[in-house]
Formats: sequence, C-alpha cells, structure tokens
Amino acid sequence: MKYDLSRFAIVFLCCFLVGLTTNHYGLAFAVGLSLFIFWQYREFQKLLDWMKRRHESTGPEQKGLLNELCREIGFIKNRHNSREKKLGGFLKRFQKATSALPDAVIVLDFHGEINWANKKAEEYLGIKWPQDSGLRVNNLIRNPRLNEHLKVKPKALSKGVHINSPIKKEMLLEVRISPYGDRQKLLVARDVTTINKANQMRKDFIANASHELRTPLTVISGYLENFVDDELCPAEWLAYIRQMRTQTARMQNLIEDLLTLSTLEASEENVEKDVVRVPDMLATIYNEAKTLSGDMQHQIELQAEPSLYVYGSHAQLYSAFSNIVFNAIQYTAEHGLVQVRWFADEAGVHLEVTDNGLGIDEEHIPRLTERFYRIDEGRSREKGGTGLGLAIVKHVLAKHGGKLAIESKPGEGSKFTCNLPRSRIVQIEPVKLRA
Ligand code: ADP
Repeated sequence: MKYDLSRFAIVFLCCFLVGLTTNHYGLAFAVGLSLFIFWQYREFQKLLDWMKRRHESTGPEQKGLLNELCREIGFIKNRHNSREKKLGGFLKRFQKATSALPDAVIVLDFHGEINWANKKAEEYLGIKWPQDSGLRVNNLIRNPRLNEHLKVKPKALSKGVHINSPIKKEMLLEVRISPYGDRQKLLVARDVTTINKANQMRKDFIANASHELRTPLTVISGYLENFVDDELCPAEWLAYIRQMRTQTARMQNLIEDLLTLSTLEASEENVEKDVVRVPDMLATIYNEAKTLSGDMQHQIELQAEPSLYVYGSHAQLYSAFSNIVFNAIQYTAEHGLVQVRWFADEAGVHLEVTDNGLGIDEEHIPRLTERFYRIDEGRSREKGGTGLGLAIVKHVLAKHGGKLAIESKPGEGSKFTCNLPRSRIVQIEPVKLRA
C-alpha cells in the first residue's frame, strides 16, 4: 500500500514539475496520468496471462498491492494443482480397479446417457468409453427387457433382468441398475452364462429323472394293486405288499410334485389367461377334502363369492388351492374345523384357509415354502406328504403375481392366505335387461 502511494506521489510530483516548467499543467497531468494508467494496465495484463497458465506457480515480478495479489493467487494455484494431482491419482486407481472387475459397469445420468464405462462394458455390451460418452444406453443396446427395466422407478429396482449380450449371443447377462448420487444410475452387467447352464442342467436332470421314473413306478404300483385286490399272494405276504404299495404311492406323489415344480420353473413368466371359475373349482376341492377327511369327520365350511372368477392357469391354481386345503385337513385332528373363504377386497382377491389344528411355531413359518422343509418329517411322511406342496403353492402364486401369507399359533391353528392382485379379476358384464 505504502509503495503504491509513494509511486503515485512521484508521478504526481513529476507532472507538477513538468507543468511548472512548461506552464501547461493540464497537459502535463493528462499525459503523466495516462502513462501511469497504461503502465498499470500492462502489469494487470501480465498477472492475467500468468493466471491463465494454470500449472505455472511462480508469478511475474511485482511490487506493492500487485505483489500481494500474486502471492495469494499463487497460493490458491498451488492448492488447486495438488488437489488436481490427488484426484487424478485417485481416478487412475479407480479406473484400474473397475477395469479389473469381472463385471461391466456403466454410469448413467438421469436421462440414461452414458457418463462413464469400464472395459468389460465394451466386451459384454459393446459400449465404448469415451467414444460413446453422452449417448443414451437404450439407443446403443436395443433390448425391450432392458428398456423396460430402465423405466422402473428406483425403489422397485431390487431385481435384476436377464438379457443376451448384444456382442456374443450365447452369453447371458444379469443386468442390475442401482440409483445413486444426484439421480444417477449405476448399471452393472454380470456374466451368468455358466450359472444359468448349471441351473438348467439341474432342472433338466430333475425333470428327466422324474419322467423316466414315472412309467416303471406306474407298472410296479399296478402289479402291487392286483396282488392285493385279487388276493394273488399268500396271506402272510399281504402286509408286506400293502406296505410296498403305500411306499410306491408316496414315490408317485413325489414324482408328480417334482414334475409340477419343473413345469412351473420351465414355463414363461406370465401364465396363460384362462378364465378360471374358482367357485366351481373350490366345490370340487371341497368334495375331495371330505373324502380325504373320511373317518376323521372334519367340519369343512366353504364360503365363495359365486361370480368371482380370475384369469390364470386352471391346473396351476387347482394344484395350489387343493394343496392348502388338503394340508389343513391333514394337520388338523379329528372333528376339527376347516374354513375356506374366497373373496375380493380393495387389496386383491384372496383364498383364505383357516384350521384349528396343530398350528406352527413362528420359527418355522418363513421356511415352510422351501423344498422338502417339513416341521415333523415323520408325521408328514405318514400322511403321504412330499414336503413340496407349499413350494408349489409359492411358485404358482408368484406366476400369477400373488403371494402366500401364513399366520399360525401352535396348538390353536393356522391361516394360509393366497393373495392375488385385483388385475386378475374377470369383469363379468352385468346382463342387460330388455325394456
Ligand atoms: P407336506 O407334503 O409335508 O405337507 P408342504 O410343503 O405342503 O409339505 O408343507 C410343509 C410343512 O408345513 C408340512 O410338513 C407341515 O409341517 C407344515 N404345514 C403345512 N400346512 C399346515 C397346516 N395347515 N397346519 C400345520 N402345519 C402345516
């Protein structure tokens, strides 16, 4: 500040002296001050040029206020440069790490435009970075399933979607999208070809083995039946033959259930859209339940909304609903009460099966729909159970967009509810009356 004032004072004094000797004060001050302003302008210009050279940290030789300004700017520049260096190093390390990832990773902005992609993205999806930066991902990967998935609201993005790689047709990818930051999305594609093949082999093996076992078992059970019915075997063998027949029947049930499960797994996500007359179906199940109850004489009550039909697969819904009703009979003691209700409300369509039977401990409830999960293996076997019934129910309901709910208290009974969405309801036009 002092330096600047004294410099200005010198200029002022010089102008004054020139004015005194020439007697032209006005001209002397005008010329002197213009020269001073021009000089100041040059100094600022030097400062600006230096500021533009981002990586040069030592500024031009300056004095006074300009020197202080230079020092401050130099300090900010140094700090900025070291931050940039740090970030550059971090970015390099991040890029190295993501290119070592076995999955394709793409960063999308909220319009679905590509901000960044790793190397695997090119190998799996043909997305090149930086060439494809700023392009919309659904313009580059034309896949209806992925397009649908990209439109899903962030909260509902828990599940991934399977698509074939646009580069290698035989490669199956599981694509997951996770929202993050300021409405950005992270698209991760994983190669699941091998897992999928192994899964398919497992499913095929179970389906083929069950199918191959079906015929020999039918033959064996036929002969055993003849032995018992026509009394073809000696009386002392009868007990053994009966036991063999019961076990064969069990194996047949098991194979039928395994086949049902593999058909459910193999079929497409959406089930057929038959009009299923559920009240009629429940009437059949009711009669079968009465036969199953036999001497145990359960009290079975059926309440069904008569015109409540749904779209779906008749065979699959029959399998699910009968499983639940027959379980209620099997796990409820003699003369027990089994109530079946079929109704619709705001939340959807429901089949509610309540019994006052054995009940289930809370710890078992979440695992009941697992394959072969049985609380009491002995009791289930004795009743001809396969341990696959509720797994079938869960699959069928999922195919129909529904869910199974289980409530139970040991010793008091259980309530199994099949919940289906309202969109499944068949709207029956009211009959128009003639005037
Ligand atoms: P299972 O063929 O053994 O009946 P499920 O998958 O149908 O197989 O049922 C699994 C298990 O759930 C059964 O073993 C039984 O222990 C239990 N369970 C099912 N329904 C009932 C019910 N209504 N009351 C009590 N326990 C039940």
